Amino acid sequence: LNTAPLRSESDASRQPLNPTVRFLKSLFAEWRLLVPAIIAALFGSLSAVCIPVLYGRVVGFLARAASLDPVAGRLELVGHTIRLFGAFMIESAMTFIFVSLAARAIDRSTRRLRERLFDKTLRNDVGFFDETGRSRIEHSITREIKSVRDTMMMNLSKDRGLRAIVEVFFSLIVSVSITGTLGFPVFGLLVPILSTTSARIGMRNGRLAFNVEKKEGGVQSFVSERIRGLRTIKAFGAEKRESQALGRILDGVEQVSKKSTLSRGMTESTSRFTIYTTMLSYLMVGGLLICSRSLSYEMFACLTGYVWNLNFCMAGLSFTLTDSAKLSKSLESIYSLLDVAKSYSSDAEHKANGTSVLPAYNGEVQFSNVYFNYPSRPDVMVLNGINISLKPGQMVALVGSSGGGKSTIAALLSRMYAATSGRITLDGTDIQSIPPEVYAKQISVVEQDPILFQGTIRDNIAYGRPDELADDDVVIQAAKEANAHEFIMKLPDGYNTMWNPGSNISGGQRQRIAIARSLVKSPRVLILDEATSALDQESERLVQNALERIMQNRTVLLIAHRLSTVQSANLILFVRDGEVVEQGGYKELLSKENGHFRALVNSASNYVDCTAPPF
Ligand code: ADP
Repeated sequence: LNTAPLRSESDASRQPLNPTVRFLKSLFAEWRLLVPAIIAALFGSLSAVCIPVLYGRVVGFLARAASLDPVAGRLELVGHTIRLFGAFMIESAMTFIFVSLAARAIDRSTRRLRERLFDKTLRNDVGFFDETGRSRIEHSITREIKSVRDTMMMNLSKDRGLRAIVEVFFSLIVSVSITGTLGFPVFGLLVPILSTTSARIGMRNGRLAFNVEKKEGGVQSFVSERIRGLRTIKAFGAEKRESQALGRILDGVEQVSKKSTLSRGMTESTSRFTIYTTMLSYLMVGGLLICSRSLSYEMFACLTGYVWNLNFCMAGLSFTLTDSAKLSKSLESIYSLLDVAKSYSSDAEHKANGTSVLPAYNGEVQFSNVYFNYPSRPDVMVLNGINISLKPGQMVALVGSSGGGKSTIAALLSRMYAATSGRITLDGTDIQSIPPEVYAKQISVVEQDPILFQGTIRDNIAYGRPDELADDDVVIQAAKEANAHEFIMKLPDGYNTMWNPGSNISGGQRQRIAIARSLVKSPRVLILDEATSALDQESERLVQNALERIMQNRTVLLIAHRLSTVQSANLILFVRDGEVVEQGGYKELLSKENGHFRALVNSASNYVDCTAPPF
């Protein structure tokens, strides 16, 4: 899984802000939550810093309690207890305010980032997904942003993050002020130096942990792809092979993880070493000061409280620094993806400016000198100067052997990709300049293997018309035209039956639901990839019949697999090596001596599936 930062052209010219700064800026958009949260954190830390002083006073009191009058002693004890209890309460209340407000701010900003990233990526054509890698995009939107959120949440606890920084700072100052010149080399120099070393190791550990997570993303995409393709694995008896393949990926994870585990061990042990050295030094310094009568037991107890505070917070800070290094790598990866996605989509939006009024399109389509290469294979020209004219209401069939470029022509018309050069127009307007939502209303694609989303059958059909009310009448009418109504009514909950990938709905039924979904928006132009022999005969007849019905009065670009539809096409285009090498009516092409189409028809079994009527 490639999660290396991506570089867009705009990045190169205008050096965007550091990703961590960008995220912090977006976090500070929640200042209404953050300002009170930070104030609460400061008060919480200050009350935590006061606790050792109060604790020291209790110890001092206990040292002289035996010599006090019992009633006066009890009264003083109650006073100490109340003050200590007050400090505990303030600290707990401030912690509650800080954690709940800051967690809300983190939730909101990571949610915004997730929505933005999803929105910006979805606006791009398929070329962006091919180039960037689907699993890379999926990983960023799901796992990487979640990991940013979780890591930040974890660092809200008392002895981590902001609060730990404040408490370490105050604890060091107070410890130096208690122990004076004897304590300065320990609390002013040794402890900060050891903590910095431990922090640096922690940050290295964070970067390595990010690499492990990146590799883990590869495991996730491998496993989810294989589970999706379970039937193929079973059909080829490839279970053992797949387990071995996973083993090889896990070897890669282990290699990176080995370095990380070593560094994790170093982080833990340096952090321990810092803690033990601090403890030992404080006992020595404290002992020497007590021996020279320069430190009371009360102040020693107070110092003990600060040293414990220091230890907890320094250990917590080393985790925070580990996390911050990991966080900064994750943010770098997320923002670089966002920048590339933005540069792609703003380009498309820029081109589409100004045509937002929805004209009444007739459905005339023109390909003029269209050249195309897939962005992921820039060196291979797949379409070499395509010129096609589809008159309104005409059906044009693309034929030719596999790999010629038929699906690519359909993909360009459905705007999955933009042509490398040349123009495709709808009623004379370049399709790239039509806003995507306007264009989507004019055009429908019915694929061989359509995807339905989780939800009811009704929702899946109404998906074709999201901005208008696709009421039950419209949905049922579309289902009837698509030969889907009858079988839907036989399902346990009719139109309210939930569809999910494990549903007991056949391929043909799924296809008819998809046809109904295309029909609800009444498109002017239809792109059809005819089903091959994957369906049983009855199902195929129903699908075919539905397709014939929906093609009427629409401009249709058809990737043809069967003779009956080719025969009824107004124009047949024979596509080979990215060029239209022959075109004309069915009879005209069939009568051509040495014609490509004629040759194809003569070897019909290569092209038309066995269930189609014979030529
Ligand atoms: P047909 O539909 O006639 O079988 P296609 O349009 O699917 O042909 O393919 C035309 C050429 O484009 C083939 O060489 C194929 O390998 C290549 N191709 C198809 N899809 C992609 C893709 N997503 N990325 C790179 N090359 C592709």
